[in-house]
Amino acid sequence: MSDAATRLHAIRSAVADAAKAGRREASEVTIVAVSKNRSVEQIEELIEAGQRHFGENRVQEAQAKWPALKARYPDVVLHMVGQLQSNKAEEAAALFDVIHSLDRPSLGAALVKAGWTGPTYLQVNIGEEEQKGGVAIAELPTFLSDVRATGLHVAGLMAIPPSEVEPSPYFALLAKLARRHDVSGLSMGMSGDFRSAVMLSATLVRIGTAFFED
Ligand SMILES: *Cc1c(COP(=O)(O)O)cnc(C)c1O
Repeated sequence: MSDAATRLHAIRSAVADAAKAGRREASEVTIVAVSKNRSVEQIEELIEAGQRHFGENRVQEAQAKWPALKARYPDVVLHMVGQLQSNKAEEAAALFDVIHSLDRPSLGAALVKAGWTGPTYLQVNIGEEEQKGGVAIAELPTFLSDVRATGLHVAGLMAIPPSEVEPSPYFALLAKLARRHDVSGLSMGMSGDFRSAVMLSATLVRIGTAFFED
């Protein structure tokens, strides 16, 4: 097996084990390979190995890498996982299939104006960190109903827990917020913590390093 195939196999097994430990089905969890800073060649190896969902965090970088790849592999699903500026909404809407980082009304309005209809996750600032993107927990109910009123397709909630601390309480909190507000998708968990995210009901994990480095 190629390195890419070996890593893909290992990540799928780890997700399946974590799902089992959480009494869930592995098929409930979408694995997104976050390919920011990775070359087209590295990405293509992973596509050839069978990976289909990919994430990028910058519109410009994605525009440089993905139009050709998407033409060659039309069933690839491309996720925008990074902070999105409103003035990039139109370009993002044209290139991406899923957006994970809707965190303010002005961006929602820009996406509507751009004709965006794809699955959209609301990013929550789950650790209430000043420097981090995401809507404040206290503002989530209002933001959610405002976004729903615009007709955007709310697919779920997304969060990045604070670094250097145990992430599971934050995953549990995001899951609780999703249940309370009748949202089904949960985009949470990265290379270092996707196992606990899956145990705590993530429906989508965003994995970068573990896909591309040993
Ligand atoms: C880079 C990135 C990831 C992946 O992080 P790793 O720790 O490399 O797995 C996940 N989510 C977002 C938003 C990212 O920017």
